[in-house]
Amino acid sequence: MTFTPRGVGNPPAVRQDQVKPDQRRSAGVFAGADRAGSGPVLFDAVLLDRDGTLVEDVPYNGDPEKVRPVAGARAALDRLRAAGLRLGVVSNQSGLARGHFSVRQMRAVHARIEELLGPFDTWRVCPHDDAAGCGCRKPAPGLVHAAAADLGTVASRCVLVGDIGRDMGAALAAGAAGLLVPTPVTRPEEVAAAPAVAADLPGAAAEILRRQAAIVPVSAPWPKPAAGPARRGRRGGTVLVVRSDSAGDVLVTGPAIRAVAHSADRVVLLCGPRGRAAAELLPGVDEVVAHPLPWIDPDPGPVDADEMRALTARLAAVGADEAVVFTSFHQSPLPLALLLRMAGVPRIAAISDDYPGSLLDVRHRVPPGVPEPERALSLAAAAGHGLAPGDQPTLRVAAVGVDPSRVRLGASGYVVLHPGSAASSRAIPAGLAVGIARALGEAGHRVVVTGGPDERDLTAAVAAAADGVDLGGRTGLAELAGVVAGAGAVVVGNTGPAHLAAAYGVPVVSLFAPTVPFGQWGPYRVPTVRLGDATAPCRDTRAATCLVPGHPCLAGIDPGEVVAALRSLGVPAATVPGAPIPTRLAAPTATVHGTTATAGAVAVPATGGSGR
Ligand SMILES: [Zn+2]
Repeated sequence: MTFTPRGVGNPPAVRQDQVKPDQRRSAGVFAGADRAGSGPVLFDAVLLDRDGTLVEDVPYNGDPEKVRPVAGARAALDRLRAAGLRLGVVSNQSGLARGHFSVRQMRAVHARIEELLGPFDTWRVCPHDDAAGCGCRKPAPGLVHAAAADLGTVASRCVLVGDIGRDMGAALAAGAAGLLVPTPVTRPEEVAAAPAVAADLPGAAAEILRRQAAIVPVSAPWPKPAAGPARRGRRGGTVLVVRSDSAGDVLVTGPAIRAVAHSADRVVLLCGPRGRAAAELLPGVDEVVAHPLPWIDPDPGPVDADEMRALTARLAAVGADEAVVFTSFHQSPLPLALLLRMAGVPRIAAISDDYPGSLLDVRHRVPPGVPEPERALSLAAAAGHGLAPGDQPTLRVAAVGVDPSRVRLGASGYVVLHPGSAASSRAIPAGLAVGIARALGEAGHRVVVTGGPDERDLTAAVAAAADGVDLGGRTGLAELAGVVAGAGAVVVGNTGPAHLAAAYGVPVVSLFAPTVPFGQWGPYRVPTVRLGDATAPCRDTRAATCLVPGHPCLAGIDPGEVVAALRSLGVPAATVPGAPIPTRLAAPTATVHGTTATAGAVAVPATGGSGR
């Protein structure tokens, strides 16, 4: 059993209210939103594809008379407008490049659409075809960035609704949320790969409003603790938050823990030993208690009665006024809730589909498919905890072991290639990782290969193929965070570094094995290209080891797809001579220099409609 009092001999935890927004590399991304004074909301705006989403798809339509809205479109859009969401249209119209209709005809069609469906706050159209190689034709992210800017916000605070994979690709590449509304022509693999799916446009509007409302705290479901005034938030007291399992699990719970920290005087986080390093990176955590939970761990030891008694005593010693138990959808909070009851914790909140009896005071339910950070935030909200004004529902890590003021790489950064994973089913196959490294090197990218102490053979082989730097086994999580923070992009499977990248606003090429849903576990609110076969037989199996011969979900990826993905994300091959790679890990970011830090590495075209 490992108890980890945080204090003597350790630097003090960085409280969320001490972390300035500019300590995030993506701070600039949110600067516009902050200036607007908007509170912690998921979405400022809804962007909509035109053909097949708003109106029935009439190929190359230049005739206003042929405009037919999809069923329920007007009412659905009016619901979004009434909720204060701004609306924009983002549409590929290659018929312009191909001469099927004129700009004047297209404008007449758009006027007719507004006549039938009400006004939109912006229209962004790509007039090119695929041959142009422009930055605006979906799945490129240009239209999304341009429309978001028109609406006074940023892509990561938008949700894009569309009917095909190109729409979802553009949303992800821009860092926006994506919501697919399939039509009969939508291909099954596009449905499988989508981050979220709704039956139709009214269903999409309902889901957007549901997600928006779910993170708004309910009025506190229980009274404020008698002892001591609340110093920071509305309620005060000590709150025990729980998130077992791996580093990634802990990182995606960060926004919810910050919400709790906004209300509480003191936050104690119970995590598993594998999540401890991540727990120590989270803003808002005052103390970390690490202990394995045999009903959660993938390789659990036997349940030892003495150990459970000792854990119960340790939990009682926390003196919590309240506990919020965060879990994944396939985990049960109830065994721990029982121990917490035995430890005397008076108020307990958790998500549980199983009947909790008297174990829970707040039994929260969440539909499937919700991104893990939002799922956790909605539990915090159900327990009465909301993010501080000015905080945003994005992943964040405290500046432990990292001095962000020294992170200076921006768009010219090296590419971090992280081939491994604790779960081999989610790792990049070794041969493919070598191929990717070679392709990245040939394309002019500087490659930094990262991995754990037991992955050194792998990282050495991969780094050699790119003439890159091998950091395998040489970074703890805090140093790895520093390396990721300086990167132009991260190439990784579904594992911890993807969430570190999201926390720094660093674009991700996600080689995502579909063993768990991408919409729940994909990199959150950061520009991302998803690669791999979302329909592979391992889909939704949660297998830690691939049971399908040849690991087909990822093995079929061509290394060239990774190079193309970086191009789509606006991550150029490094061209800054002499910009060094951080090989000295005593101060991992101190050796990182280059261009000035920019708001993410994604090129934002000023005029999406005209291409670039
Ligand atoms: Zn274009």
